[in-house]
Parts: sequence; structure tokens; C-alpha cells
Amino acid sequence: MSDLNQNGAQLQNGAGKADGSTEEASALHDVIVIGSGPAGWTAGLYAARANLEPLLITGDDFGGQVSITYEVENYPGFPEGLSGPDLVDKFKSQAERFGCTVSYDHVTELVVDEHPFTVRTAQSKEYRTKSIILCTGARPRFLEVPGEQEYTGKGVSYCATCDGFFFRGKELVVVGGGDSALEEGLFLTKFATKVRIIHRRDELRASKILQSRAFDHDKIDFIWNTVVTSIKGNENGVVSGVTTRDTLNGEQSELETDGVFVYIGHIPNNDLYHGKLDLDEDGHLIADPMTRTNVPGVFAAGEIADKVFKQVATSVGQGCAAAMQAEKFLASLEAEGLPDLAEDPRAWPTPGVPRKTADLVAAD
Ligand SMILES: Cc1cc2nc3c(=O)[nH]c(=O)nc-3n(C[C@H](O)[C@H](O)[C@H](O)COP(=O)(O)OP(=O)(O)OC[C@H]3O[C@@H](n4cnc5c(N)ncnc54)[C@H](O)[C@@H]3O)c2cc1C
Repeated sequence: MSDLNQNGAQLQNGAGKADGSTEEASALHDVIVIGSGPAGWTAGLYAARANLEPLLITGDDFGGQVSITYEVENYPGFPEGLSGPDLVDKFKSQAERFGCTVSYDHVTELVVDEHPFTVRTAQSKEYRTKSIILCTGARPRFLEVPGEQEYTGKGVSYCATCDGFFFRGKELVVVGGGDSALEEGLFLTKFATKVRIIHRRDELRASKILQSRAFDHDKIDFIWNTVVTSIKGNENGVVSGVTTRDTLNGEQSELETDGVFVYIGHIPNNDLYHGKLDLDEDGHLIADPMTRTNVPGVFAAGEIADKVFKQVATSVGQGCAAAMQAEKFLASLEAEGLPDLAEDPRAWPTPGVPRKTADLVAAD
């Protein structure tokens, strides 16, 4: 590992100067990981074990989405399941054990149009780095009604794949009208006796095929032109019902249910990337199967680039892949220098692999 990199690690706690510049400006890291969800910790672990002395910047939501997960039962290696915060603790201590440095800070700006890249943070730190692994994840859009936060993990869920199993023989409500609401609603019929899909309009945004599957399913009912206004619990501290409002006549109703699955949108945490890195129409970073974004040396892993799988296990896998790719990039940088994108937009360290989803399609 270079002296510069060790320097970077030492300097991360340095105070900002009066003129707003920071001591860190002179440090040069090999790799900075942004985000402390499953993808980030895994990238940190793999980069640390490759002797790259990564710096991981946690972001304001330490541990990411999994830290608000009551119980994770589908992450391999933990047959009894474990709480989200416990899993985050394990991720963190494993990454630190191999030398991943953790900074409890939030990134406010990236400069990726010149190399080495620059990362600026809320605590006025400034880092220079040869590669970056972006693991800033996403967040479910919340209903923002009374009871939602209180009963999250106690009947309120944003992930049928994760939590459906707990609702065997129960009656459930799904909120939403897009593909996710219908896909997850259909999935929940494996466990539930009844699934009521509450939608604020009188027609669905979901694809026709999903619509006809849902309409034909004898366990699924639709409640149209209706919004959930609060979530109620019982004396055991778990969800027992919802109150709703008819959007046409304002009428309030109550509905008993054992669980509320919310699918009203998923928001990628992409504030840093607009105008700097390629995003798809939903705001996810576009990365190829090798986790490479459109800027060589900048990699993306987990839900910031994945709108399909959205699981701890898949995010971990992508974090691993991104760190391995960063390692390759750094080796190639040392041997051959920076690829010249102006000359050849596909001039990646591993030649012949398309760099963007669009190129992938074109290459098929
Ligand atoms: C309630 C709930 C329950 C779930 N249950 C399960 C389950 O049981 N099993 C399962 O497999 N999956 C579950 N999931 C999904 C799983 O949590 C996610 O797929 C996984 O956390 C995604 O990991 P990630 O690392 O991509 O991002 P995230 O977990 O979203 O983490 C993103 C990280 O990026 C950081 N960040 C964002 N912006 C910045 C910035 N500007 N600077 C620095 N850092 C930044 C955040 O602080 C955060 O640490 C659940 C999700 C939710 C919401």
C-alpha cells in the first residue's frame, strides 16, 4: 500500500482549515466506499482484504435499510435469522477487522470528471481517490401516516419477499397500483388467506399481464379510489387494521388486517450523481454487469443500481463484485494508466465488455 494512502487514512480526522479547505485535500486513497448498507460493507470488506485500505463513508443512515429491519431470515448463514442491526454490526466488525476505515460522515459532492476523483463531505472533509464504489442505496417511499413508523417490522412491511413468510394464514393489505404492488400482492397469496390491494385511483399503472393475474386471483380484492390514513395496532403491539379515506367522497372507513405492505415507490439515493453519472429513467445509476458506471474507476453496487432484486444477499454480491472490479481497475491504472474515454468510449480495463446497459443491448 502506498504512503499516500496511509496518509489518507491518518488525515481523515484532520480539522478543516479556516479558509474552508481541508488537510485531506492532499491525501490520495485507492478506494473510497460510499454507503454503509450491505453493499457498502461488503465492498469495504473485499477492498480491505485486497490490501486497498478502503475508507468507508457511512452516510446519515448508518447501516442502510437493513438497519430498520426487525428480523432478517433470508440471509444465508444465519439459519435462526437475526435482527437487521445485529447483521449490520457483524458486517461492520468483519470489514474493520481487515482494515476498512469507517468515517461517520455524509458525502455532499463528488467530482468525477477529473482523475483522481474528489469526494467532499458534510463535515468539510475532502478526499482524493483513484476509485470510488457507490453504494448509496435507495429508500421505500413511505405512506407518512400515523402508525406507519411505530408498526414497521410489526405488521408494516416494504418487502413481501422478506416478510411474507411471517403472514401465513393472515389477511393482508397491499397499498399501491404499480407493478411492484401487484407482483408482491400475488406473491403474498402464497401465505395469506386474503390480500386487499388499496389503490388511490380507479385504474392501475401495473402491466396488463399482472393486472389480469391479480384480477383473476380468488384471494385478491381491490379497493379503489382509497388512501390509507392511519395504521392501528392491538394490545400486542402489532398491526390490527387501517383507517382509509375515499378519495371521491371523503368517506372514512376502518378495515381489519394483520399486515400492511406498502409499494408506492422506491427512491434511489442519487442526489450526488445528477449531471455527473448516467442514470436510468427511474434515477438508478446505470452500471454494467461488472458494476462499472460510465466513468472508469467509479463502480456502483446494491440498490442504487439495482431496481430488480433489492435484497441483502444480492446487494452483498454486488458489493463484492464492485470491490473486485475496483482492484482490477487499480492494477490496470498502475500498468497502463487511465483509459482514454475521449478516444474510445469503450476503453475499459477489461476490453470488449460493454460499459452501459444501452451498449449491452446493442451488443446482443
Ligand atoms: C423495512 C425493510 C425490510 C427489509 N427486509 C429485508 C429482508 O428481510 N431481507 C432482505 O434480503 N432484504 C430486506 N430488505 C431490503 C434490503 O434492506 C436492501 O435490499 C439492502 O439494504 C440494500 O442495500 P444497499 O447497500 O444497496 O443500500 P441501503 O441499505 O439502502 O444503504 C444505503 C447506504 O447509503 C448511505 N448513503 C446514502 N447517501 C449517501 C451519501 N450522500 N453519502 C454517504 N452515504 C450515503 C446511507 O446512509 C446507507 O448507509 C428490507 C428493506 C426494508 C426497507
